[in-house]
Amino acid sequence: MVLDVKRIINTPGGRIPFDFTEDFSDVDFGGVCPAVRPVSVVGQAENIAGMLRLQFDLTTTLSAVCDRCGAPFDLPYKVPFECLLAEELEENDNDDILLLDNGTVDLSELARETFILNMPSKTLCREDCRGLCSGCGVNLNYEKCRCKKEVDPRLAALAKLLEQ
Ligand SMILES: [Zn+2]
Ligand SMILES: [Zn+2]
Repeated sequence: MVLDVKRIINTPGGRIPFDFTEDFSDVDFGGVCPAVRPVSVVGQAENIAGMLRLQFDLTTTLSAVCDRCGAPFDLPYKVPFECLLAEELEENDNDDILLLDNGTVDLSELARETFILNMPSKTLCREDCRGLCSGCGVNLNYEKCRCKKEVDPRLAALAKLLEQ
């Protein structure tokens, strides 16, 4: 989706809303492609007193894998994006200014970059996920650890004495 903003460049108050979906199911994070559902891109380009502002939200539900217990779960994802658009950079260029390409901006590309940059680096199925036991491997959220408790050697000696 390429947005043409030429008709509002010189029109303060001008506004171009947009609402479309992108497919980012090929975006791979360490062997996992979490964007199994379409990602919606909803926003607008707006001329505010001569300044062109672009704003949108990326929304989807990711298919994530818990970093602690390995369980798959649905992770609601919503990331806002905002920048200014300009036909050319002023002297003191600013990171928040995006250059227009012949009066247009490639929203698909921008949405993809934004999606990649804002991928959560750590995903937990729940805040207090207890993870897997490093000994027996059970999911501690649902089961009790099956590891044999290490017996204190002094108690073991005592137990032996009592047995006799
Ligand atoms: Zn978990
Ligand atoms: Zn265990």
